[in-house]
Amino acid sequence: MWRAAADQPVARILADFLKNPTLGAAQNRLVFCALKTLSSTRINVLIMFLSQNSGSCVQNHFPTASLYIDFDAFFANVEKQLDPSIRARPVGVTALDSEHSALITRCYIAKGAGIKRGMRVSEARAMRRDIVIRVARPDIYVDIHNRIVAEVNRHVPVKKVWSIDEVECALIGDEQQRAADIGRAIEAGLKRNIGPYITPSIGLAPNQFLAKVAAEMDKPNGFVTLRAKDLPGPLFDLKLSDLPGISSGMETRLHKAGIMSVEDFWHISAKHARAIWGNVEGERLWAQLRGHPIEKAPTQRRMFGHSRVLSGEFKDPKRAVDCLRLLTVKAANRLRRENYTAAAMSVSFKTQNKIRWSGETQFSACRDDHSLLGHMHRLYERGMSETRPKRLQSASVMLHKIALPTQRGRDLFEDQNSRNWEKLTDVMDGLNRNAKRAVIHLGPRPKIPGGYAGAKIAFGRVPDAEDFY
Ligand SMILES: [Mg+2]
Repeated sequence: MWRAAADQPVARILADFLKNPTLGAAQNRLVFCALKTLSSTRINVLIMFLSQNSGSCVQNHFPTASLYIDFDAFFANVEKQLDPSIRARPVGVTALDSEHSALITRCYIAKGAGIKRGMRVSEARAMRRDIVIRVARPDIYVDIHNRIVAEVNRHVPVKKVWSIDEVECALIGDEQQRAADIGRAIEAGLKRNIGPYITPSIGLAPNQFLAKVAAEMDKPNGFVTLRAKDLPGPLFDLKLSDLPGISSGMETRLHKAGIMSVEDFWHISAKHARAIWGNVEGERLWAQLRGHPIEKAPTQRRMFGHSRVLSGEFKDPKRAVDCLRLLTVKAANRLRRENYTAAAMSVSFKTQNKIRWSGETQFSACRDDHSLLGHMHRLYERGMSETRPKRLQSASVMLHKIALPTQRGRDLFEDQNSRNWEKLTDVMDGLNRNAKRAVIHLGPRPKIPGGYAGAKIAFGRVPDAEDFY
């Protein structure tokens, strides 16, 4: 009978347990059950410890617990779904109606012709004269996104929306055995109820990280399962930069450390990975690649903000500030919807001759338009007097030092006036919400070319309906 010494840490006990030769094949399953009974933070520590001390024996028992869906060329394919006349042609989507504008998405026909994301419309036209260029319609994309989430929820609950075209589901219990069937049912449901041109690529794997990798492996319209027992196998065909979390900067750092491929990375220790990153992220990625069920702790929001490439008359610094007003109001509105306050703001802009300016200011925590617009105007004027630009190319505003109202420190200089503005802002928000558009706002609210000022679709955030008014 194997016994643990009572005063040993859990990790040590389990490691000893694993080394015990009399336990045979049952040990992995037992260890897995033991792991499941521990709290998640302790599991993270423990499984790293175990995998360093006992080879791959734990690995084989990570079930297929994550299903990741990444839509192919989403905006371009939505346009194709909605307009049958462009389905057989290369399609690109831009943010602005301009030949200088960059493609934010292009369909697979365009991709096949060598047209890349980020390429200018004029360049893309030079490669395929028949390319169809569409200006993005975020409200329509968000609507389809919401319908997609509803469709996936009919099969298995969506655990997290990662971006407008990426969602993740956690598979539990017997869903893990039926993973492939569930994936196929989702695929069929999307085809039937959303449309056959809006194609998903689906990945199944022990954790979200590998499921995302799997979804990327056979695009478009892929369906890839990475089981723990198949690892590392197909991973070695990938480039380091194919792995989520390895940016080009990190890739360079890995190269400097002599790690040129996923295979090289696979063979280093968790400790070594941590040393290369300089923090726990390296170790986390190392463990996720092996199928460990590691999740990132939910991070606290650090900032709210918007940026904008300026066009036409809005390049004029006198008009650019109107655009910044709108961006500030949109950011403040989101701040309030998520029930936060801000205590710092930064405003930045780039001039036509590529000079970048950025300024930051701190203030007592607030959340109303009046205070935040005041801070924005003062920062902007400072930037103007320091750079005296003729024309601007882009501008952005960010709210920082985000906290919940309950966390806001007592400010000795806080005046009743700012509290009144907050109350007034809440009343205005209520009116606008009821009317489903901005019926009441402070000062001018110009129409910005390209529209949709606050509803820019960024990775990790899908705009709410309220972002559109
Ligand atoms: Mg995608």
